[in-house]
Amino acid sequence: MSLKPKIEEKRWDKDLEPAIFRKWQEEKLYAFDKNSKKPMYSIDTPPPYVDAPVHIGQAYTYVWMDIMARSRRMMGFNVLFPLGLDKNGLPIEVQTEKHFKILMKETPRREFIRKCKELLKMYGDISLDTFKRLGLSCNSWEIEYKVGGRYETDDPEYRRLTQETFIKLWNRGLVYEDAKPTNYCPVCGTALSDAEIEYVEEDATLNYIIFNVKEDGEKILIATTRPELLCSCKVILFNPNDERYVHLKGKHAVVPIYGQEVRIIPHPYAKMDFGSGLVMICSFGDREDVRLIRELRIEPTYAIDLNGRMNENAGKYSGLTVDEARRRIIEDLKDMGLLVKQEVIRQKKPVCWRSKDPIEFVSLKEFYLKQLEFKDEMLKMADEMNFFAPESKRILIDWINTLSADWVISRRRYYGTEIPLWYCKKCGFTYVPEPGRYYQPWKEDPPIEKCPKCGGRDFIGEKRIFDTWFDSSTSEIYIMGYLWDKEFFNKHFPCYVRPQGKEIVRNWLYFTMLKSYLLFKKKPFRDVWINMHVLDERGRKMSKSLGNVIDPMDVIEKYGAEAFRMWSCLEGDITRKDIRVSLEKIRGASKFLTKLWNVSRFISAFPLCGKVELTATDKWILGELSNLIEAVKRGYLEYRFYDVAISIRDFVWDLFAPHYVEMVKPRAYGRGFSESEQKAAWFTLHTCLRVILKLLAPIIPFITDHLWLKIYDKTSIHKEFFPEAEWGTEFNKLTKKITDFNSLVWNRKKEKGLSLRESIKIKIPEELNPFAKDLVAMHRIENGNSL
Ligand SMILES: [Zn+2]
Ligand SMILES: [Zn+2]
Repeated sequence: MSLKPKIEEKRWDKDLEPAIFRKWQEEKLYAFDKNSKKPMYSIDTPPPYVDAPVHIGQAYTYVWMDIMARSRRMMGFNVLFPLGLDKNGLPIEVQTEKHFKILMKETPRREFIRKCKELLKMYGDISLDTFKRLGLSCNSWEIEYKVGGRYETDDPEYRRLTQETFIKLWNRGLVYEDAKPTNYCPVCGTALSDAEIEYVEEDATLNYIIFNVKEDGEKILIATTRPELLCSCKVILFNPNDERYVHLKGKHAVVPIYGQEVRIIPHPYAKMDFGSGLVMICSFGDREDVRLIRELRIEPTYAIDLNGRMNENAGKYSGLTVDEARRRIIEDLKDMGLLVKQEVIRQKKPVCWRSKDPIEFVSLKEFYLKQLEFKDEMLKMADEMNFFAPESKRILIDWINTLSADWVISRRRYYGTEIPLWYCKKCGFTYVPEPGRYYQPWKEDPPIEKCPKCGGRDFIGEKRIFDTWFDSSTSEIYIMGYLWDKEFFNKHFPCYVRPQGKEIVRNWLYFTMLKSYLLFKKKPFRDVWINMHVLDERGRKMSKSLGNVIDPMDVIEKYGAEAFRMWSCLEGDITRKDIRVSLEKIRGASKFLTKLWNVSRFISAFPLCGKVELTATDKWILGELSNLIEAVKRGYLEYRFYDVAISIRDFVWDLFAPHYVEMVKPRAYGRGFSESEQKAAWFTLHTCLRVILKLLAPIIPFITDHLWLKIYDKTSIHKEFFPEAEWGTEFNKLTKKITDFNSLVWNRKKEKGLSLRESIKIKIPEELNPFAKDLVAMHRIENGNSL
């Protein structure tokens, strides 16, 4: 019998990947079928921000999302796996300013927006190429206004949804406008929500300054890192238990340079062991100042203007930047003999998430969405969702518990969704339009003729835009078809899973929950999958300044998408630990592809055959296969793709190939076996290979599809159903005995200097009698059957 493998090539060729991907697209293999009767599995993918090439960490996590989609599809779900790109907001504006060397504030709005779009076009295409090259099974790569279409957050249709949610919340009285101390980045020129604040630890100078007590001239020491705020000093606190200062209660301190008199009062906020134990509260040095001034009902004095410079309240320092003012005031205090000591301390400083500039507090009239009164509901909702890994729920809970202000949702920028409001010039009436289209009040008239209140015909359009998280927090509503098919939406909402990074729990996840609660009184997701980070080989964050950024495209060019995908599962569970990129390990992952190729090529030489009488050896490996199927299925359902990859690899590499395949080789070639026994080997080899390919298809979709089409079928493996564990496991208890015995024989031959093909005398243990015929043939055992 001539046995020629159906797989001719000696090894997997990574350069086949793009052609396989194109074929999937031509066949519309992953298109979404809205009318399917299957249960829905919807994935609210995080739209990557397109101001930079795709990060290798994104590539890693998108592979995991793709595995979610592919495994669920095989398990009979109707999978909604749309791809979005995030294009709104500050990052692109900052890039545009840099790229075109312009400033938003000095550029006409229309022109600035045009420039943003120009830049976005460039970035967007680069991101998509990487995702395609990774082999993602998104429903569609075209922007389509329908469920399953690709989307971009700056698309008029997406912005229409953002505005519609605002109008609904507005009409229900959940939005209000107020002037209160707001986080503000002077460089970005906009208000920021607490979720947009980051903290950096750095050295700060603590200055000990002499104040005089008004009543008796006593000199007291106040320690502060922000002497430039003396003009806005409002009150001085000492701890109620601090015996050094109880005598000051009810007295006043005179603030140096400015001379205002402020009360000295006991308050637990003052720490006895910090500085001198006396602390000055200014409006506003930090978030605690905001809280205390509100608590003590003090009228604030703002010292810093919208450009980050000292304002007229700062007297002779007015017009200076904060840093300059601090230097100058320290000099002046020194000259006056009022600065007695300076200490360097470590301090956590709040900075803008985007530009990393220090946050100031200014008074701005901004729109707020109510959230403080819903904290309990948010905590309850967190409990209704399954977190993977469970411990990442803590990040969300902690965040909800620390909320201390409503969500400031308006921004003074250009590239974002406009706040859809107009104001009557005559009477000030605020007009909010009906939902239904995308409004741009800064350049459009309102859709009404005259003011409903006074009949005036002149309106001023709102110029502000929304916080970009106000857009992002509607992604799950958008992909579930809220705009286009309310029936479909109502039937399938909430969305099944939200995969996202841990660093955006406090904004993306939390705000999505808040809006979902306020709009629908429903949780937005069943499952929440939170990933940690991908770091460089030495465990450092990748950044341009460190020069350690790895472009996933380079890796894929070199090793292929399959090696990258296999590695991303074998390397570890990114919901539980940070992952370190190692090119060596990615290269190493391709060894498994070679192993899979070799095993498939070997098996492909044998004919396919139907029903046969199985031998004990065949039943044994099929029992092990049943176990594997069960474990892999559970792993996929529980997002444990690391465990899945390890168990399949171990099965193929450590059990199936070295033990079963070797045991049945003589039988498969028909040496000394009956035709029925030979066919049983063929049947079992092919059954195992089919299952192995299917189990691996979600992880390595290119090579498995290629092998499947060559050996088994004309239609893609990605149309197949997940295999069933249909074989009995009665022989599984002997697995260790079998592998131990094989190892024993191999070792014996080695010790005796025999080649594997030479015969040996050895006793087969009694329990292994059912497999004796295969074992004898495999090892060429003489008198092996004797007891
Ligand atoms: Zn900033
Ligand atoms: Zn009016």
